[in-house]
Amino acid sequence: MTAPVRPNNLEAFWMPFTANRQFKQNPRMLVGAKDMYYTSADGRQILDGTAGLWCVNAGHGRAKIVEAVSAQVAELDYAPAFQMGHPKAFELAARLAGMMPSPLDHVFFTNSGSESVDTALKIALAYHRARGKGSKFRLLGRERGYHGVGFGGISVGGISGNRKTFGTLLTGVDHIRHTHDLERNAFTRGEPEYGAEFADDLEKVIALHDASNIAALIVEPVAGSTGVLLPPKGYLKRLREICDKHDILLIFDEVITGFGRLGTPFAVDYFDVVPDMVCTAKGITSGVVPMGAVFASKKIYDTFMDAPENTIELFHGYTYSAHPVACAAALATLDIYAEEGLLTRAAELSDYWADALHSLKGLPHVIDIRNLGLIGAIELEPIAGSPTKRAFSIFLKAFESNLMIRTTGDIIALSPPLIIEKTHIDQIFETLGRLLKQAD
Ligand code: PLP
Repeated sequence: MTAPVRPNNLEAFWMPFTANRQFKQNPRMLVGAKDMYYTSADGRQILDGTAGLWCVNAGHGRAKIVEAVSAQVAELDYAPAFQMGHPKAFELAARLAGMMPSPLDHVFFTNSGSESVDTALKIALAYHRARGKGSKFRLLGRERGYHGVGFGGISVGGISGNRKTFGTLLTGVDHIRHTHDLERNAFTRGEPEYGAEFADDLEKVIALHDASNIAALIVEPVAGSTGVLLPPKGYLKRLREICDKHDILLIFDEVITGFGRLGTPFAVDYFDVVPDMVCTAKGITSGVVPMGAVFASKKIYDTFMDAPENTIELFHGYTYSAHPVACAAALATLDIYAEEGLLTRAAELSDYWADALHSLKGLPHVIDIRNLGLIGAIELEPIAGSPTKRAFSIFLKAFESNLMIRTTGDIIALSPPLIIEKTHIDQIFETLGRLLKQAD
């Protein structure tokens, strides 16, 4: 029996981050996916310009991952990771640690980006306490940062829509300014020239709260969900220096930049800045099975290992941490990345990508275009009194034109699977060019 492609009742599913009523009136239903394309319920091939939600880095329907997952379900479907282990968890952790620069030698498994962020924040607090610096309890984030939807993540996150209704648990944090500076950097190709001095904001916040009260700063090396905000040249290095000076941990949220998005395995490599922890998820399994991983430095791990043996060093973990099926999917995904050179493929394509993207300069309402690796953003002038409407209407029209894009505010964000070919890039920007010319 084949499942109906269009269920009759759409009411029960309360859809996440979705205009539910708008969607349910005119659903955009996906029923299949292969390589660069989704299949829609009405039988169209939709080009995936966003790797799902920035996660399907190896492209859709990869046989190797499908086989690894099905074999794993048959062999060992589930095993606890509390006081137990299974070999693939250790194999995967060692392999991942080997991909990161030293001293990011240890890996804590989670199931999502949000969980990775909350895990890293908790490790930061517990780390300082373990070394007798329990007063370092404050966590710092950045305006317009997105760190998932857990209470930790929305606290350090800097998107008001994600914070405004969630009350008192968000206290104890502060934020530095975001780095988006259209006046000086509009239409820059790659890293913006101006704005390294935004990092000095951190000194101001430290002066306000005192370093003895601050545990960690978390930033996305490239902010994605808030509309692709790129770090100005020298900015991340400066953050690293200031954190070192004040004994504050630096956490990179690489949930979208991890696993090849910038043309290097991680943003850590691209910017040549080594933080104390790195949060990852999404591309770790190419989106096939939920999984996340937090990389922690040797210094942090060793501090916890000072506790007496036989004690649990960190009171944290998930039923599905290092789930065997997720581990199998991740190992197969890493094989594909290595065999096909996907973690550096964005570097080979980034000039072609940038040329095609920046060719949209001058089209109606386009006020900025930004790119790095295989990330692109087109910022539109909002319709007066109706922010988000212009970009969202392009999103709807793109879907009708067989192209999947994402929008946030009035920014179109693009992040295709890393298997993309030049013909697909042409298709993305021809479609967008046509739609922008017609935009209201
Ligand atoms: N952190 C960043 C930088 C993200 O972009 C996201 C998701 O887009 C998250 C965290 C949250 O990940 P998840 O939706 O898997 O919880």
